[in-house]
Amino acid sequence: MGGMGGAGPFGRGGGGGGAGFDAGDIGDLLGNLFGRGGGQARGPSQSTFGRGADLEADLHISFLDALRGVTTSVSLVSDAPCIDCQGAGTAPGTSARPCSECSGRGVLDENQGFFSFSRPCQRCQGSGRLIDHPCLSCSGSGVTRRPRTVKVRLPEGVKDGQTIRLKGKGAPGRQGGPAGDLYVRLDVEPHPLFRREEQHLRVTVPITFAEAALGADVRVPTTEGDAVTIRIPEATRSGRVFRVRGRGVPGPQGRGDLLVAVEVTVPTSLSAQERRAIEALRDAATSSPRDALGV
Ligand SMILES: [Zn+2]
Ligand SMILES: [Zn+2]
Repeated sequence: MGGMGGAGPFGRGGGGGGAGFDAGDIGDLLGNLFGRGGGQARGPSQSTFGRGADLEADLHISFLDALRGVTTSVSLVSDAPCIDCQGAGTAPGTSARPCSECSGRGVLDENQGFFSFSRPCQRCQGSGRLIDHPCLSCSGSGVTRRPRTVKVRLPEGVKDGQTIRLKGKGAPGRQGGPAGDLYVRLDVEPHPLFRREEQHLRVTVPITFAEAALGADVRVPTTEGDAVTIRIPEATRSGRVFRVRGRGVPGPQGRGDLLVAVEVTVPTSLSAQERRAIEALRDAATSSPRDALGV
């Protein structure tokens, strides 16, 4: 299932010295590397002329898909290479010719005394090419705005709020420049039973007073769909946490644990037999939990 992404040009300056990851189609995990504030520069360390804009999109995924990894897609509306001319800007069966003004170099040299300057060619706007027969779909720009779908492969254990960078999946470059990157921000749906605590998972399991008092083997759900059995010793207090090793969040450093908090429940309705049994328990009590309070 793809999440709809509202994508737009994203004004990231190309000036920063960020480490560039190359991952092709695979999302590389930049995690929380980027703080929201502070204007940290993302992306390539050099600003490339004609490079397409970086885009941003949100991707909504389920809790379990975030744990086990998933290949999905994100839909967005953005500039994309024109289908009809494959981004060339020329009408079918025609091609661009080198600019006569700058001999296809895109720049013109200007001599001023001892110095020589280069300035972009006005005629071809720095592209070095002239299009006599522009593509009708894109008016020769090579770019059209349309909905498109980008495949995203998420590794196991991704987190809510994490940003995945898809290199070269942003807006197409202009005049032969490279495409920008697509930053996919993950929005992970909460789970009704499990809660994430870094690499661990937490689940709350109700137990009866009798199980807490006498001890019991209790079945606990896992995110794999099976159940594990934990042994609760006698005199277990409500809220005690048991650890099931290796059933937490998968990740590069191995799996975290499943933390099971037991919660002693009070029955909301009693059969006549249960009522008699509990009254018998009350009457048999030799001490009160309030003895320590001295009242
Ligand atoms: Zn030119
Ligand atoms: Zn076109």
